[in-house]
Formats: sequence, C-alpha cells, structure tokens
Amino acid sequence: MNITLNINNMKAVIVNKTGTGPVEVVEKEIPKVGIGEALVEVEYCGVCHTDLHVANGDFGKVPGRILGHEGIGIVKEVAPNVKSLKVGDRVSIAWFFEGCGTCEYCTTGRETLCRKAKNAGYSVDGGMSEYCLVTANYAVKVPEGLDPAQASSITCAGVTTYKAIKVGNLKPGEWVAIYGCGGLGNLAIQYAKHVFNAHVIAVDINDDKLNLAKEVGADFIINSKKVDNVPKMIKELSNGGVHATVVTAVSKVAFNQAIDSVRRAGKVVAVGLPSETMDLPIIKTVLNGIEVIGSLVGTRKDLEEAFQFGAEGKVVPIVQTRPIEDAPAIFKEMEEGKIQGRMVLDMKKGKNTCNCNH
Ligand SMILES: [Zn+2]
Ligand SMILES: [Zn+2]
Repeated sequence: MNITLNINNMKAVIVNKTGTGPVEVVEKEIPKVGIGEALVEVEYCGVCHTDLHVANGDFGKVPGRILGHEGIGIVKEVAPNVKSLKVGDRVSIAWFFEGCGTCEYCTTGRETLCRKAKNAGYSVDGGMSEYCLVTANYAVKVPEGLDPAQASSITCAGVTTYKAIKVGNLKPGEWVAIYGCGGLGNLAIQYAKHVFNAHVIAVDINDDKLNLAKEVGADFIINSKKVDNVPKMIKELSNGGVHATVVTAVSKVAFNQAIDSVRRAGKVVAVGLPSETMDLPIIKTVLNGIEVIGSLVGTRKDLEEAFQFGAEGKVVPIVQTRPIEDAPAIFKEMEEGKIQGRMVLDMKKGKNTCNCNH
C-alpha cells in the first residue's frame, strides 16, 4: 500500500540530508519552466559511479540534490523564448548540463573544460526523477531509432569513450589498446572497432569483462593478471605498439603499462580517475614523441555523433532496467561492487498503475 501520487508531484532520487549517506526516493513538486528552459518527462536514467561519489559527498556535500546525469526523456513544455527544442522531442540530461557560453573554452569547441559549467545531478537537479528541467540549448536530441534506455548509457559512458578515441586521433586500420573493460571500456571497444575501424586490444583483470569485450568486437583480449609483461604482448600483437591507448581503468599500473604500449608518436588518452600519479619516463616521451592527453566527457556535438552511431546499431550499450524505487538498493549494490553492466532506472515501471502490491 502506497500513498497516491499528487498530480503536481513527482518521484525523485535525492542525496540525503547529511549529504553523505544512502540515497532516498522522495516526492517533490514538479519544477516550473524558466527562461531558456524545457521540462522533460524522464523515461530512463542510468546509475553511474559518479552518482555514488555525489551521494557520498566525495565532490562536496549536496544534500537534497536530485541525482542523475544519464537521463533521457520527452520534452513536455518549453519556455516561450526557446527555439532549439519543441514539445515531443526526445533529449538527453547529461553531466555537461550547461556551459557559460562565453569563456575561451566555450567559444572554441572545448566547452567541457568550462569552469563555470553546470553538472546534472550535482550542481543542478538531474535526471533521476519523473520530470527534470534542462537548459534547452544544451539538451542534445536523441535520434530516431535509438532505444532510449540504451541512449542513457551513451549520454555518459558512450560519449566519454567516443570522444577519447577522437582525442587519440585513431584512424582506420590503426591499433588501439583499451585498458579497463567495464562500462566505459566496453563502449570504447565498440566505438573503436565499429566506428573508427581500428584493431582493438582489450586489457582487464576480469575474465567475464574480457569475454564480453571479445563478444562486442575486441580482436585480442589480455588478462593483465595472467600475463607477465602486458606492453610486450601488445607490441607483439600490434607489430611494434599501438597507435593509441584509452585508459578507463582506475589504476596507476594500467596508466604505466599504457605508456609502454604505444609506438612512436603514440597517444595515451587518460579517462579513468585513480587518485595517484603515473610514471612518465622523460627520455622515452621525448625520443618517441609520445603524447599523454586527458579527455573529459564530450561536447554537445560529440554526443550528437555518439547517439547517431548508436541509432545505426554500430554501438549497443548493455543495460538492465529497474524501477525508480530500486535506486537505494542499486546504489548499495554498486558500493559493494556487485553490479555487472549498466543499471538504468525506468521511470515508467510501476507508473500509472495501481499502487497495491499484487
Ligand atoms: Zn555517468
Ligand atoms: Zn565557458
């Protein structure tokens, strides 16, 4: 038995009062549309490790904040001045929620580096609720033919890895090593193989993830726990070293191995965020012309492109949908490391149905 939902209210997953503990599912008033905004009826929102960091106060406490930066939904209402969206459009609610629009990064196609950027589910309310406001000019449209639950994963892991491969300047026929084959790495492999037409070597310490990597397109898989010298093996497989590596692993060891895996003029693209430093041999870096580059999520344009490849079936995120009421349990499972693949909240599960327990 549940209380019937007030018509002006919505269910939302929030950071609790202390800003550090388990998340809560609460009822909140549906927000009102302001200048430049659109109201989105959320269909799906993925649950990400970043949400767990926000809920635990790791980036600073934000009690009461509605979580979620992997939201997908349908526009229900737009402010009168909005031209970029119309009612009925399917759009994203992404970590890069809005940039200032005027700094040197915003005006030169590097808007994710804007230091005044707002982040959904952290500095502004996010997509883990039945309704969510977006800044209309920053919400990216989801193309026809892309499953909205799968689109939620492209909004975060997909665009992040697609962008990282772009940053690595990978070309058809070249070699790439993907370190870390979890949610990010799995999509990195798919983009590298099926969009960039590269040869892909996947590295992880988990056989299940490596088997999945093989299934989605990796040419070779390496379990770095079972191989003595991973860079040596990569160099043999790729005839002298890969042209680029994308490191999604949260491990200093992986970053160090990545530097030893690239050929001359190779690029090491850093995506994972271990709170350590990597060892960068200076002579090798100079003599081999190695580049180490950080890559942070993706711009609106990157997301538009990443979505389109999903719509064309070149990239297929693996997702599992659960009702919004499961959010506290999902966060707990994530904390305990029990989750394989992506958990996505389905806002329609259980909605508009009677609330008794039959
Ligand atoms: Zn995410
Ligand atoms: Zn800016």
